[in-house]
Amino acid sequence: MPTQFASAKPLSAQQIAAAPVHLPRSSRLQAPLTHDLGPRAGRALNTLGLHTVGDLLEHLPRARGEARTITTLQREETATLLVEVRAIASKPVRRRGMRPRVEATVVDHTGSTRVSFFNQPWLVQRYPPGTRLLLTVRTDRRGRVSVNAHAPTELQAAADAQVAHYPASEGIDSTRILALMREHRDAIADTLEPLPARIRTAERLPDRRAALAALHFPGNEGEAEGGRRRLAFEELLLVQLALLRRRARRERAATAPSLDAQRTLTKRWLESGLPFPLTNDQANALEDIDHDLAQRHPMQRLLMGEVGSGKTVVALFALLRAVEQGWQGAMMAPTETLAEQHFATIQALMPGEAVPAALLTGSTTAARRADSLGKLASGELQLVVGTHALIEPDVQFARLGVAVVDEQHRFGVRQRAALDAKGPATDGVGGGRRESILTPHLLHMTATPIPRTLALVQYGDLDDTVLRELPRGRRPIETFVASGERERARAYERIREELRAGRQAFVVCPLVEESETLQAKAARAEFERLRDGEFKDFRVVLMHGQLRPREKQEAMAAFAVGGADVLVATSVIEVGIDVPNATVMLVEDAERYGISQLHQLRGRIGRGEHPSLCLLFGPKDSARLKALAAHRDGFELARIDLRLRKEGELIGGVRQHGLAQFRVAQLPDDELLLEHARLRATAILQADPELEQSEHALLAHALAAAYGPDAMAVIPA
Ligand code: ADP
Ligand code: MG
Repeated sequence: MPTQFASAKPLSAQQIAAAPVHLPRSSRLQAPLTHDLGPRAGRALNTLGLHTVGDLLEHLPRARGEARTITTLQREETATLLVEVRAIASKPVRRRGMRPRVEATVVDHTGSTRVSFFNQPWLVQRYPPGTRLLLTVRTDRRGRVSVNAHAPTELQAAADAQVAHYPASEGIDSTRILALMREHRDAIADTLEPLPARIRTAERLPDRRAALAALHFPGNEGEAEGGRRRLAFEELLLVQLALLRRRARRERAATAPSLDAQRTLTKRWLESGLPFPLTNDQANALEDIDHDLAQRHPMQRLLMGEVGSGKTVVALFALLRAVEQGWQGAMMAPTETLAEQHFATIQALMPGEAVPAALLTGSTTAARRADSLGKLASGELQLVVGTHALIEPDVQFARLGVAVVDEQHRFGVRQRAALDAKGPATDGVGGGRRESILTPHLLHMTATPIPRTLALVQYGDLDDTVLRELPRGRRPIETFVASGERERARAYERIREELRAGRQAFVVCPLVEESETLQAKAARAEFERLRDGEFKDFRVVLMHGQLRPREKQEAMAAFAVGGADVLVATSVIEVGIDVPNATVMLVEDAERYGISQLHQLRGRIGRGEHPSLCLLFGPKDSARLKALAAHRDGFELARIDLRLRKEGELIGGVRQHGLAQFRVAQLPDDELLLEHARLRATAILQADPELEQSEHALLAHALAAAYGPDAMAVIPA
């Protein structure tokens, strides 16, 4: 509340209204965007989403260029000029088919030149001598200048003026947008500043008005970049606020069983049941999870660790913590192969323990399924591993306490929510009649490492734990990029050497994006070729997505127990295969796969005691293949991937991790800005969880505008 000068008495409404200050009037930004550019340009503005003055001001330039001077114009270039018309006339059309032309003599402070406008005879009237114009021109080989775009402007020609280039559309070009922007320049004063002054100063960012002015009408490059950073920070801060509030709301809304009893079963298991010591990262992950499970609100943790980093042990620990306290644990995987693999691993990991466990997938027989469902509902069955089959409506748990979701990005939000709803209903606390649901604790897992920048945006509402260290004893994988017939022959010879030494090999067929059928066909052809040729002395099996589940299982089983030497497969082997004796992988047309996909594929070897070899067939100069040959760390590769994508290398792989689409911020370059935004958002919400303090009023407003009143709109991730 504003007070009277040098007094604590509040000002009356009249006094405030009469105060001689310029308060921004944001209502003026809502005014429709008026212009005299004609209906075609009007439609173009609509297409660009520019309906109001405010919309226009938020239409940010995508680049800037220097305005050039007439004497520095080169031949065959495109440039922006600031000029004044000296003379203008239309040229008669002499031959049929000639385009009507207007010729003008224009000057700036360095000199003069003749320019031609085509097909716009009316310009003679519109641009009389004395008109100042902003021109985008193209010079030809002989130095003749034709005008591509033009707009009247108030701008004075200055030696080093920068000119903003805008995203344009059919019907309106960047130059006209700039002219329109100049016309509405004053409205910048009416924009609101959502950032609390304290934060803005601490982050040394210009205020919003200065930032907009600097972007639209840059004095120099540094100023414009300062403006961009300012708007990027705001954008990132809003995302982080939205994510953190979403998380806080979920924490408040849902109650979970507090699983804080002493370790019993898990203690025994860790001390004597587990066949190996935990890595430090695994031990830390268990600590994180223990802490989360003890809370009264559900765990929301993301466990990120690349293939082979030992996530299953961590997941099993979480499940067993539930089991030992009388609750049930469930683990959901996106494919049957994976679910089966997990089920097998889990059983191998706890040899001495008799915890009743079941597997539930689409191919579980009806009788088995009925039996398992009955036991889940009664609580007799304490551990279950499965696919989507776990979240079907007829699956009921007596006391689901912990759920693990593997490869969580492959499940939709709704599917994850369905798992949440499997928690037990309890009688309302304190004898109330209302039933409430206890939400299970959730552990999400992913084997796709993503750089922290992306994680902050994509999974910003989850806590995270990372397994970086691979379990001890892992052998290195050497990776080579190979091409040409000589290298191919050598590659097959190397593979045969490994096979003769008793090892096994994968051959991965090219990715065919258009159709699984084509892909399966290609894999079969390659399988037959190798079986009858290069590897005719060995046992070769085939695996692809279109085989019947039984056939898949047979191929997998044969390979797993050493009954087959070579597995020819499509990328279905990406996840879920653990054959420590497999030491070679050959990937055909590797450049068709994305970096993370190749890295995942490669994770199928190097899992045993022998050194491994990965041969990527593809162009030697491919930046992605070179990155794979040089690095093994998934996080490092993910960073490189992000950078390459930014640089626009064509991506062959189908799978993309959701690169956040921001309007202003550029990741990963704005990484530091993002970290700052995250810290500030955390601090703001700690002090003022609902953004009710007056210094946060405009911030709350901006947040609602960006993500809806409850900040529940989709967050760009
Ligand atoms: P992920 O699911 O992260 O790809 P897994 O959990 O399947 O990895 O583990 C890969 C392999 O490493 C499994 O065979 C597992 O038994 C083994 N493993 C896990 N943790 C360790 C450890 N601390 N020491 C040795 N081997 C381990
Ligand atoms: Mg795994």
